[in-house]
Amino acid sequence: MARDRHETPMLDELENGPWPSFISGFKRLRDQHPDERINGVANSLLGQLEHSYETRKGYWKGGTVSVFGYGSGIIPRFSEVSHAFPESKEFHTIRVQPPAGNFYTTDMLRKLGDSWEKYGSGLVTFHGQTGNIMFIGADTENTQNFFDEVNEYGWDLGGAGPCVRTGMSCIGAARCEMSNCDEMKIHRSLMNNFTDDVHRPALPYKFKFKVSGCPNDCQNAIERSDFAVIGTWRDDMKVDQQEIKTYVANKGRQYIVDNVITRCPTQALSLNDDDTLAVDNKNCVRCMHCLNVMPKALSPGDDKGVSILMGGKRTLKIGDLMGTVIIPFMKLESEEDYEGLLELAEETIDFWAENGLEHERCGEMIERIGLVNFLEGISIDVDPNMVSDTRSSSYVRIDEWDEEAEKWFQRKAEG
Ligand code: SF4
Repeated sequence: MARDRHETPMLDELENGPWPSFISGFKRLRDQHPDERINGVANSLLGQLEHSYETRKGYWKGGTVSVFGYGSGIIPRFSEVSHAFPESKEFHTIRVQPPAGNFYTTDMLRKLGDSWEKYGSGLVTFHGQTGNIMFIGADTENTQNFFDEVNEYGWDLGGAGPCVRTGMSCIGAARCEMSNCDEMKIHRSLMNNFTDDVHRPALPYKFKFKVSGCPNDCQNAIERSDFAVIGTWRDDMKVDQQEIKTYVANKGRQYIVDNVITRCPTQALSLNDDDTLAVDNKNCVRCMHCLNVMPKALSPGDDKGVSILMGGKRTLKIGDLMGTVIIPFMKLESEEDYEGLLELAEETIDFWAENGLEHERCGEMIERIGLVNFLEGISIDVDPNMVSDTRSSSYVRIDEWDEEAEKWFQRKAEG
C-alpha cells in the first residue's frame, strides 16, 4: 500500500486474547485486499477509530441519505474528522433484507460480495440486530449505485426509523424437527404485505415482525418483536415409548427424573415403572424442555398452528417487555388462514398508528391504554387462554367472569 498507515497502538491491543478480533478483519482489508480504494478506506477507518480511543469521543454524526423512492433503509454516517481521515469521510450503512430463514446460495453471497467491493468498503455484517444484512461504509453516491445494482438482481432495502422493520424467521421446517408452521411463508407473507410501511417511515415508531417455528423461539421473537408468531400445537405431544426406554437404559432412571421429569414447570410428566413416560398433556404449557432433552422420543403433536404475542420490546420509555398472548392458537394452513393473519397485523398496526404516541412502541401503548382497550381496538374477543404470565394471570376479569365464560363457551360451540 502506497499511502502511510495510521499507527494504531490502542487498537492493536484488541487483537490480543483468545477471540477473533474485528481489528484483524479491518487490517486484512487494509493490507491484503487487491483494491487500493478499499485499502485506503480501511486505513482511514482504523485511523479514526484509534483517534476515538485516544480522545474517548465518537466522531460519527448522522444526517439524511436515502435512495430514490425510499424514505428509509440507509443509516447515514458522516465523519467530523474527515480532514484527518478523508477516505472514510462518508461511511453510510445500507440495510438489506435477508431471505426468510436466512437461506442463501453461495452464488448469491458471492454476487453480493462483488457488488459491495465495487461500491463500498468491503465490511459486511450477517446479520445486524434487526435481522438485516448490514453493508457498512459507502459514500453517498455509491449508496445509490450499490442499491441499484443489488436491487436489479432481487434485493430490497430493509427498514430503519419509525416504520415496519425487516422481519426475521428461524431456519424452520427445512432443518428443524420441532417446527410447527411454515416460517418462511409467514415471514414472506407479512413482509410482502407491508412493503410500503417498510420503506416509508410514517408510524409512531418501529414495528417488528419475527417468526419462530416452536416455543424455543430461536428468533427471540417474544422479547424482541411487536408481533411474534410462534409455532405450537394443541393436541397431545408425540411420544415414542421405545425411544424413552432407550434413553432410560442409556442414562439411568435417576438422570431422567432429575433432568426431565422434575424440570417440567407444570409437573406434567411422570416416569412409569416400566420405563415409559406418562404425559399429562392438558397441563403441558409447551415450554419445550422435555422435547429438547429427548428429541428422538418426544415431538410436537399433529394439530399444529401458531400463537401470536404482541408488545415485546427492549428498553425505551418503560423497561423491557415480553410479548403477551393475544391469539392463543391459530391454524395457518389455507390461504384464508393467511389472510386472517394479515388482517390481524393490519388491524394492529392501524390501531397503534392512530393511538400510539410519538416514539411509543406498541407494547408501551398497550401498557398505557390497558389491554382490554387494545383488544377491543383490534376487534379481538377475550379468551381465557390469553395469559400474561404462564398459568398465573388470565386477562378475564373475575368480576365479569361468568359473563365472559358464557360468551367463550358459546364461541367454542359455534366452532
Ligand atoms: Fe412439561 Fe414443558 Fe414438556 Fe410440556 S413441554 S411436558 S410443560 S417440560
